[in-house]
Amino acid sequence: MTEVLIAGGGVAGTATALALQGAGRAPVVHEAHESGGDDAGAFLTVMANGMAALHAIGAAQAVIDASYPAASVELFDAGGRHLEHRAVPGPARTLSRATLYRVLQDLATARGIPVRHGKRLTTAAVTDGGVEVRFADGDRAEGAVLVGADGIHSPTRRLIDPQAPTPRHTGRHVVYGYAAGNPAGGAPDAYHMVFGSRAFFGFTAPGDGRTWWFARLPGAARPGETTPARWRELVREAVRDDAGPAAAIVEATGDEVVGGDSYDIPTTPRWHNARMVLVGDAAHAASPAAAQGASMALEDAVALAAAMRDHPEPAVAFGAYTAARRAQTEETVAASAALGGH
Ligand SMILES: Cc1cc2nc3c(=O)[nH]c(=O)nc-3n(C[C@H](O)[C@H](O)[C@H](O)COP(=O)(O)OP(=O)(O)OC[C@H]3O[C@@H](n4cnc5c(N)ncnc54)[C@H](O)[C@@H]3O)c2cc1C
Repeated sequence: MTEVLIAGGGVAGTATALALQGAGRAPVVHEAHESGGDDAGAFLTVMANGMAALHAIGAAQAVIDASYPAASVELFDAGGRHLEHRAVPGPARTLSRATLYRVLQDLATARGIPVRHGKRLTTAAVTDGGVEVRFADGDRAEGAVLVGADGIHSPTRRLIDPQAPTPRHTGRHVVYGYAAGNPAGGAPDAYHMVFGSRAFFGFTAPGDGRTWWFARLPGAARPGETTPARWRELVREAVRDDAGPAAAIVEATGDEVVGGDSYDIPTTPRWHNARMVLVGDAAHAASPAAAQGASMALEDAVALAAAMRDHPEPAVAFGAYTAARRAQTEETVAASAALGGH
């Protein structure tokens, strides 16, 4: 019987697998997608706390090799006035979500951890001495415990607590794009962020010949398909009247655009039952403003593995892990929400 079943092969799931293997466990990762994951076109910054967690699981170098340094943030107002220079406490690294997934999955595979793609958990039940999981393709698996690393819309969260809160729409869209060249001439390790009149716009030109940008703009949820061209148009309209390079950067962007509605989860009352436990966005999704989601997921992985190493009884380990992580992650979710559209 597999020891630890992990649902979700994103940041939290793969990092948890690596951390648990380091603690002497035998994890198996089950990822719903055939490759990659949801929203993988977006990019993110792993902050110093996340890098420390990567270091603890022996994954820091692989991520450094696939990413770019993020050393500073330059803040501007809608009129193009420079407001502030902020140093980013280092080391902090920028990379696409897809790259982070790939690096961690490759590392897991290289270390002999099975990563099974196309396995979408649909339901799970606590059994005598373990847990049984079922997947959308009709497959099933048994294990000692289930780690729900299945993201913000986590089915595992509902299995643990049918009353678990649904994610809250933050009233914002988040759009990511990649423009040709470096029209703004930014330094490779700097982020430029603009408190625009209708959108918060940020960009960096990390050195791959493109400018990576994001925009956060107000708007009601847009369920269903919105095309890359339409997302780009929404951003173009939102930055049109602002000084600075945002409009030129959007202009230099083709179809490399991905957008979506922004959600968070202020609190999840139950993080575990006797045999199932949540990590990452499944437990505590933050809006993107604090840029902490991936880093928190990585810290969860290390904390859960430490608790499972120290406490052989799963429920005791899960309780210790929750006690170590919940207050801090909820604070970060609240701080990110307080930043609003920024
Ligand atoms: C637009 C955007 C921008 C962001 N910017 C930043 C940033 O700058 N810095 C930062 O630190 N964080 C950022 N984040 C947050 C960060 O991406 C997440 O917090 C992080 O990816 C959480 O990792 P996770 O593994 O918990 O969830 P995910 O990365 O979402 O992974 C969940 C995985 O579970 C899989 N899955 C889902 N359902 C099932 C199922 N039923 N069965 C099996 N597998 C399933 C999914 O396919 C996915 O691979 C951002 C998030 C978004 C949406």
